[in-house]
Amino acid sequence: MSRFLSRSLAALAPYTPGEQPQDRRYIKLNTNESPYPPAPGVLDALNRQEAADLRLYSDPEAKALKAALAAQYGLEPQNVYVGNGSDEALNFAFMAYATDGRGVAFADITYGFYPVFADLYRISPRIIPLDGAFRLRGEDYYGLNQTIVIANPNAPTGLALSRAEMEEIIKRNPDSVVVVDEAYVDFGGESCVPLIPKYDNLLVVQTYSKSRSMAGARLGYALGSETLIQDLETIKFSTNPYNVNRLTLRAGAAALAEQAYFDDNCRKIMDTRAYTKAALEDMGFTVLDSKANFLFAKTPALSGLEVYRRLKEKGILVRHFEKDPIRDFNRITIGTREQMDAMLQALNEILN
Ligand SMILES: *Cc1c(COP(=O)(O)O)cnc(C)c1O
Repeated sequence: MSRFLSRSLAALAPYTPGEQPQDRRYIKLNTNESPYPPAPGVLDALNRQEAADLRLYSDPEAKALKAALAAQYGLEPQNVYVGNGSDEALNFAFMAYATDGRGVAFADITYGFYPVFADLYRISPRIIPLDGAFRLRGEDYYGLNQTIVIANPNAPTGLALSRAEMEEIIKRNPDSVVVVDEAYVDFGGESCVPLIPKYDNLLVVQTYSKSRSMAGARLGYALGSETLIQDLETIKFSTNPYNVNRLTLRAGAAALAEQAYFDDNCRKIMDTRAYTKAALEDMGFTVLDSKANFLFAKTPALSGLEVYRRLKEKGILVRHFEKDPIRDFNRITIGTREQMDAMLQALNEILN
C-alpha cells in the first residue's frame, strides 16, 4: 500500500478470484465457466464492422439489449439494468441499499464478494449461519429490516431454496430490498423473476458468465421494479455511463436469440452433473445436492486441501476454500463429459 492510499481503504481485503495459472495447460474446473462456446450467433455479431465501430461510444442506455432482455423475461425495459458483469450490479446494490446505516444481511457461507463489498463500504454485515446441512433457513431472514442478499442457488454449496421459500422472505421484509443473486439459476433452480410484478423490494441479479458461456464479455443484469432499476441507473450514470462496451452489448443480444442452443447447453451440464455426482458418491464422496454448474464434494479419505493439491499436480484445477466449516470440501465446476472423466480418473489414482 502506498503512503497516499486513503486510510479508510488501507485495511481492505480484496476478493480473490479463482486462480488462472499460466505455467501449463490445466483442465479448469475452478471458476464455474462454461465448457461450451457462446451461441454461434454471438460470433457472427462480433464482425469487422463492429470492430471498426469501436471508435464510437457504446449506447449508455443499452436500449437494444434491455429490450431483448425484457422480452426474454416478460418484463418492460424499465425493469432491466445491464452492467459490467453481475459483480458490478451487486456492487451498485450494496452502494444503493446498504451504506446509510441500514446495513446488510447475508449467509456465512455464500459468494465471497458480499463480505468484500461490505468491507469496501465499511458496513458490518449481519452474518447468518447456514444450518448443519449447509442449507439456508428462510425463517432466519424474516423481518430483518435491513437489506438482504441471497445467492440462490447458493455458492459454493449449490443448494437452492424454492421460489415459495424465497417469496416468504421477500414478503416478510416489505421495507427492505431483497437482492437475489441468480448466477446459477439456469441449471435447475427456481427463479424469482416471476415475483417481480408483485414485489417492489425484489432485485434479481443474473449473469451471462455461467449459463451463457460469456464470462470474458463481462455482462450481468438486474431485474426489478422500475424504481429499483432507476436507483442503479443513477449510480451507473454517476460512475461509468458506458459501463458495457459495444461488442458486449451486441453479443448479449445475439446470445438471447438462440434459446435452443442455450437450453441444450444447460441440459448437457445438468446431465453431466448427475453423472459426476453419482461417480463421486461411488468413490465414497459426500456430494451436496447442487442446482448449479458445480458440485461441492468431500471425501473422508483426504483433507480438502490435499485433494485440491493432488488434483493440481495432475493438471486439474478445482476451487478450495481453506475456511471452516467447508475446508473438507472442494468446488468442482461441471465441464464436458471428457473433462469430468479425466477428473474422476485422477481422483481414482489419488485415492488408491
Ligand atoms: C460468478 C458469480 C457472480 C459474478 O458473475 P459476473 O457476472 O461474472 O460478475 C455473481 N454471483 C455469484 C454467486 C457468482 O458465482
